[in-house]
Amino acid sequence: MDRLIAGHKRFLAEGFPAKRHQYKLLSDRQAPEWLFITCSDSRVLPDLILGTGPGDLFITRNAGNVVPIHSHDVDGVTATIEYAIEVLKVKSAILCGHSDCGAMKAALDRKGLEKLPKAKRWLSHVESAFQYRQPLNPADGESAELASLIRGNVVAQLKNLQAQPTEAREVGLGKLTVHGWYYDILSGRIEEYDEGTGRFVPLVK
Ligand SMILES: [Zn+2]
Repeated sequence: MDRLIAGHKRFLAEGFPAKRHQYKLLSDRQAPEWLFITCSDSRVLPDLILGTGPGDLFITRNAGNVVPIHSHDVDGVTATIEYAIEVLKVKSAILCGHSDCGAMKAALDRKGLEKLPKAKRWLSHVESAFQYRQPLNPADGESAELASLIRGNVVAQLKNLQAQPTEAREVGLGKLTVHGWYYDILSGRIEEYDEGTGRFVPLVK
């Protein structure tokens, strides 16, 4: 815990005073422009890779950046999406997967799930990734097969997102755009899914 406490001390001494006015404005309201759905992975830091800060991104995270569609029960992801769209009126929803995703590794080789009954059930949500696998990219090296499945999962979860009733209505009204991203940890680069071609292209050309 020492490292976290030292970090919080630094925030109180430096980070907070530098943005005191902004925090005051944010203290009783938020108006984020973007809903960001990504994996729980510790290496994916949205504010760091996008240059955003407090009040910018409304974030929901889970293993494998899943948007459940089969569940009859309420779940945290779809409830968060509903709130972001209905109440916060976000302008865009971004679904972001990433390289070397442990959840997708488990979905690919099915090993190591014997002791994880809940994770095993959760990963049933990524089964549809297999049908949207992307072409192997030589730049991904030995991870090409995994990376093609991870990109396929971005497409699969994007379709689940687009199937949410509130989301579909707002897109139909032209009030919301949806985006599927793949973040590569090694290069730091983001690719965006192009629905017209069905392929991923660099976000920054
Ligand atoms: Zn992951």
